[in-house]
Amino acid sequence: MTVSDKTAVVTGGGSVRGIGRATAHALAAVGWNVAVLDLDEASAKDAAHEVGERAGVRTAGIACDVTDETSVEGALSVLADALPPVGALVNNAGITSPVPFLEVGGAEWDRVFAVNVRGAYNVTRRLVPGMVERGFGRVVFLSSVSAERGGGVFGGVAYSAAKAAQLGFARALAREVGPHGVTVNSVAPGLVDTDITAGKLSGEREEQLLAGVPVGRKGRVQDVADLITYLCREQTSYVTGATYDVNGGSHIH
Ligand code: NAD
Repeated sequence: MTVSDKTAVVTGGGSVRGIGRATAHALAAVGWNVAVLDLDEASAKDAAHEVGERAGVRTAGIACDVTDETSVEGALSVLADALPPVGALVNNAGITSPVPFLEVGGAEWDRVFAVNVRGAYNVTRRLVPGMVERGFGRVVFLSSVSAERGGGVFGGVAYSAAKAAQLGFARALAREVGPHGVTVNSVAPGLVDTDITAGKLSGEREEQLLAGVPVGRKGRVQDVADLITYLCREQTSYVTGATYDVNGGSHIH
């Protein structure tokens, strides 16, 4: 078996400085064909083009709103016609929200869950059956240290709850599909230098956060991408239902 006859799907992989795009590059560098799905079609296509050029693998960039089942179905049917069968799924599309619990409303709560939890369901539910049928699959969720330590980075209660929901999702799914050669794991990054906070993390707050990171720096997207790539390896078949911290020691438990 080899990954060159398989495709890895990265949701939310368009963002130029994001974890998803770095992961798409890292997976392609070890031979995966890569499909980038993103709300922002131009960025999805740009990422796919960049990854294909650099690694020489087959790629596709497809517009997809993970919260919308029709959009997901449309994107996956384009993908099925364009690239080899899906062997890995990285549930990376996510949004954060700093709104304190005492101020949050139902609409904001639902918005955060729609992308992080329902969005991951919409894509995973449609891709895992094929993995089970083929007897091979790797699913990785982008959870967060916020799920483990109770927020306190940037995201508030809604974000922490949604990221914790992903951990339960991954663990139960790991148990269900383990017998079929499909592993399901989560990574829990600490503060990573991307645009997810849309510049709303102030200098002083960032300094405070960095003071609590033993390795003394923010995470780089490559730190997370390397870990995801490891979890997607065909040889990494005995690791499932696990949560991997990648947080510079900011939360040790
Ligand atoms: P980012 O904002 O750079 O990228 C997120 C991507 O998801 C964007 O390209 C965006 O267009 C896409 N997206 C948003 N809503 C979508 C939807 N409905 N359908 C499809 N795509 C959608 O963020 P990032 O920092 O690279 O984060 C990636 C993942 O890692 C997220 O799940 C995030 O919660 C998680 N994470 C990030 C950090 C961090 O510090 N950056 C820490 C822990 C966890």
